[in-house]
Amino acid sequence: MTKRRSQTTDTTNTEEKSDRIPRRVFLEGAAGLLVAAGIAASGLQSANATQKASKEAVSYQDSPNAGNSCSGCKFFDGTGACEVVEGDISANAWCSAWTAA
Ligand code: SF4
Repeated sequence: MTKRRSQTTDTTNTEEKSDRIPRRVFLEGAAGLLVAAGIAASGLQSANATQKASKEAVSYQDSPNAGNSCSGCKFFDGTGACEVVEGDISANAWCSAWTAA
């Protein structure tokens, strides 16, 4: 009888232990997730930084083309910058990526 009770108690403890994640394993997993999130975030920043084209690549010119200019382009932000071309952008300029606003 006594032996039986002891076996039942041991089985219960074993089941409880197997359901728990050891603290060390949990902390290692959490640290790994934080590192992965940091890498993903830095990758997005790099992608954003290299996303714009150079002026040369899009044949940027400081004058309008056939009446079209940056001021009428959907990528012009209105303050001297473009969403797709790097550098200072004039409202009177134009490039091959021009798209009607
Ligand atoms: S014409 Fe070219 S440089 Fe000007 S805003 Fe549009 S995409 Fe940018």
